[in-house]
Amino acid sequence: SREKSQASPKTINPPKSISTGWLLNQLKRTTSLRKTEVKTCEHCVYSSQTLAEVLKRKGGATAFRIFLESEFSDENIHFYLDVEAYKQVRGGRRHKMATKIFEQYLIENSPSEVNIDAKTRAATKSGLASSDSSIFDLAQERIFKLMETDSFRRFQISEFRKCKCSSR
Ligand SMILES: [Zn+2]
Repeated sequence: SREKSQASPKTINPPKSISTGWLLNQLKRTTSLRKTEVKTCEHCVYSSQTLAEVLKRKGGATAFRIFLESEFSDENIHFYLDVEAYKQVRGGRRHKMATKIFEQYLIENSPSEVNIDAKTRAATKSGLASSDSSIFDLAQERIFKLMETDSFRRFQISEFRKCKCSSR
């Protein structure tokens, strides 16, 4: 639900002595230094790539999903990945799948409701009958941007902290 996804970051917040801004600056500084290093761990990679790059990378979507599960805000990535799968489906199965995705993520108070505005919800609903491959594009883009500016930043900080490369 909406409340769930907004209240989630509590457990991930950095200690009071280290600000998020400070960590993000460290992230930028050390990732630019790391470009000259031969060896980089997966944590380095995840903390320096964009969300689009991480999702394309083998294992990247899984790593991000596991992080979101720990924050209890994984409905966004499930929605994103289900829409990706939907776009690959051909023929008669498509309409059934579109309805299922809409009911699971986009109806108000649905089990895995994602946080989209009423206008996007209405636009998506009106496209359902067509079962076109692009009917979820707008909603998917909104959720991608939401993840990118919110939970993905916490994921990157978390990955940055797991990395031990810079202490070598
Ligand atoms: Zn590393």
